Amino acid sequence: MHIVLVGGGHAHLGVVHEAARFHRVGLSLTLVDAGDFCYSGMATGMLAGCYSMADASIDLAQLCAAFGVRHIAAQVLDVDRQQQTLILSDGQALGYDLVSFNVGSVAAHWSPENSRPEGAALWPVKPITELSRFIAVFEQSLTAGISPSVTVVGDGVTAAEVAANIAYRVTAAGLQPRVQIQMQGPTLAKQLPAGAQQALKHYLLTQGVTLINQGAVTASDHMIWAAGLQAPPLMQRLGLVNHPVQGLAVHSTWQSLSDKRVFAIGDCAYIASMPLAKLGVHGVRGALVLTRNLLAAAQGLPLKAYRPRAFYLSILHLSPSMGLAVFGRFWWLGRYSRYVKDWIDRRFMAAMRP
Ligand SMILES: Cc1cc2nc3c(=O)[nH]c(=O)nc-3n(C[C@H](O)[C@H](O)[C@H](O)COP(=O)(O)OP(=O)(O)OC[C@H]3O[C@@H](n4cnc5c(N)ncnc54)[C@H](O)[C@@H]3O)c2cc1C
Repeated sequence: MHIVLVGGGHAHLGVVHEAARFHRVGLSLTLVDAGDFCYSGMATGMLAGCYSMADASIDLAQLCAAFGVRHIAAQVLDVDRQQQTLILSDGQALGYDLVSFNVGSVAAHWSPENSRPEGAALWPVKPITELSRFIAVFEQSLTAGISPSVTVVGDGVTAAEVAANIAYRVTAAGLQPRVQIQMQGPTLAKQLPAGAQQALKHYLLTQGVTLINQGAVTASDHMIWAAGLQAPPLMQRLGLVNHPVQGLAVHSTWQSLSDKRVFAIGDCAYIASMPLAKLGVHGVRGALVLTRNLLAAAQGLPLKAYRPRAFYLSILHLSPSMGLAVFGRFWWLGRYSRYVKDWIDRRFMAAMRP
């Protein structure tokens, strides 16, 4: 029996690490992904110059080779569920008995045609490879002694993190930051406890970040689109129960509501009975349940449900010496929060590398 993992996201890294369990019962595993794994937990630290792209990446071909998993460096373009076949960007048709999608997300409401100030370069916050292209251009300006004007569109925690780290980097280069957040609604980071929202807003203002309302954007050199995440269009092509933003509807076992041979996890899917925020942490935590359930489904055994914790620690990277840690209604803004995040992120990457 052949199981195909589409996309080397957080959860599929975990499944690849468990490949021996599949091999022991005669199951073969293939991972299809054209790129490397890019860890978004380190992306905002990349903006501040704390990490390079290499620090935040894992070579999927090497990882698969280390665990005896077949790797195909291609994108899945389409799915023929009747024939149980994936259509790949290299022209191959790849058959499957079970297929699991962990293809992440794209920047919501983003299009290269989005309106912007005249002359501004437009960048989506995801995929992280796009953010890394922005960093290269941004660093060239700083080296030339220019502080580029940057507008970050969005009012979630990612927009705040992106703006804070860009402002830090400009200040560290001895220049005056010209960074603004173009708010989509009245409240910044509304998912945070009220006190943390206020502390974050105050921190941004002291770092020279301006908060502006929609429509009030002044001229900008760069516009970064961080107005949320949505499932990639591929998920709609499956012809299964699906939401255009949330992605494929799955049970808490990560199995599709309407096709038992299809699983999906991470940002490209949502548990219909309890939709979760689009965060890498659910892919990391859900990987063991996905592994167990792919093994069980292949052997006709009962599946197990993923049970998310009521609270989990989340830490915003604001500069090399500033983080905002949030756990339920408790929060802490300070240097130790950032050190803890650095420790967690480096430990995760070390554990996931081959
Ligand atoms: C700037 C930024 C910072 C963030 N920080 C955090 C954080 O600190 N903590 C946190 O929990 N979340 C964070 N997030 C959210 C996080 O990015 C996502 O929730 C997470 O990346 C989702 O992981 P995933 O496993 O679903 O997919 P991803 O890790 O995005 O991986 C998807 C993979 O699928 C591949 N792929 C895509 N399409 C195809 C295809 N058609 N065929 C084959 N392969 C394909 C891609 O190449 C990629 O390797 C952040 C997001 C952003 C934008």
